[in-house]
Amino acid sequence: MADRRRKQLLMFILLGLILGGICGIIFAQMPQDHSARVLAIKIADPLGILFVNLLKMIVTPVIIFTLINGVASISPSKLGNVGVKIVAYYMITSVFAIVIGLLIGYLMNPGADLTLAGDAAAVAKKEAPSLISIFLGIVPTNPFAAIVKNDVLAIIFFSVLFGLALSFIKESKDSLIRSSGEVVDKFFEGCTHIIILVVGWVMLYAPIGVFALIFKVFAENGADAFGSLLHITATVYLGLAIQILVVYTAFVAFSGLSPLLFFKKAFRAWLTAFVTRSSGATLPVSTSVAEHQMGISKGVYGFTLPLGATINMDGTTIYLGICAIFIANAVGIPLGFDQIIAVILTAVLASIGAAGVPGAGAIMLIMVLESAGLDLTNPQVALAYAMILGIDALLDMGRTSANIVGDLCGTAVVAKNTNSMDMSKWQ
Ligand code: ASP
Repeated sequence: MADRRRKQLLMFILLGLILGGICGIIFAQMPQDHSARVLAIKIADPLGILFVNLLKMIVTPVIIFTLINGVASISPSKLGNVGVKIVAYYMITSVFAIVIGLLIGYLMNPGADLTLAGDAAAVAKKEAPSLISIFLGIVPTNPFAAIVKNDVLAIIFFSVLFGLALSFIKESKDSLIRSSGEVVDKFFEGCTHIIILVVGWVMLYAPIGVFALIFKVFAENGADAFGSLLHITATVYLGLAIQILVVYTAFVAFSGLSPLLFFKKAFRAWLTAFVTRSSGATLPVSTSVAEHQMGISKGVYGFTLPLGATINMDGTTIYLGICAIFIANAVGIPLGFDQIIAVILTAVLASIGAAGVPGAGAIMLIMVLESAGLDLTNPQVALAYAMILGIDALLDMGRTSANIVGDLCGTAVVAKNTNSMDMSKWQ
């Protein structure tokens, strides 16, 4: 897409976001069963779902093609270099995230002014996967079944292995094996170009999709979406802001890139993550940002972005830490030292295991709460958890966009560090 058309599209997407919010708040002023409000939500709903479906449709092919093509396009020695650096970056920023989450959580103390009582039995207990099953689930017993089930972690694991093997085959000493590897490589390269073109077409629908998604959130919740839980919302967003403005800015600045330029370039991916609330669904946009706006080589982003969209969720980590404090405060059981350690460990692991889909973090929160002895069978805990669920869409918007910015930050830093970046894009 030409630069001018891309800028125009971005403007229309932003317009969709602003208009969606304004129209949503206007409709939220009507009574809940007002026919115009009901009708408007009914119309917006499928338009929003269509956008999310379109993005989801391209997620699996984008992961498979870009990952295989990406991993295979770097020579085995460089692959090790990029792999070690990005995993180290993902781990370090996760540690920052949980520390920031807990510090801000204790400073702002959300939920401390709440006294919960009453019957909260209406909240159903959801099953959180065990840590062992998360780790075992990474290895698919059948890679094709993993694709059908949309099991992202397993798809990534197999695609990385496949791409890795392909990168070795391409450098085989046996000319027959080498030339067959080159054919397969060309095939996946072609598939990557095709899917990127499809992504461009899907994005043409983004302004309408964004309008519809934002409209629905505000029309249903009104400005009240911020109301009774303003405190926890502000706390989570403050934590996310610190992670983005301090941690990521520092990483970008230390790598020698301009933070201002980085955030400008990352904006389109940030916005898509904000409205879709899905790292997976945003992947096509972040790959396009990495390639076109940041000039990062496919060999790096093809590996780091799908991996990051699945295992690097700093925003989710912050949210988990703060929500654990909120719920502990709300039920009047402050967290002890052991419980804080349990929250630290499970929040980091849960963010690794959380799928890049809307609401995944809220399910993982159950696992974190249980590790801190805050069982959902306790009616007060269940009520506090239900309150969080009520505003989860709002919190999910923030944490998902932080997740995506974190992935792009790591990708840019590693690309700069390994000389895999077209620096003319950063002038
Ligand atoms: N929605 C988030 C994401 O896709 C995951 C979460 O719910 O925390 O990154």
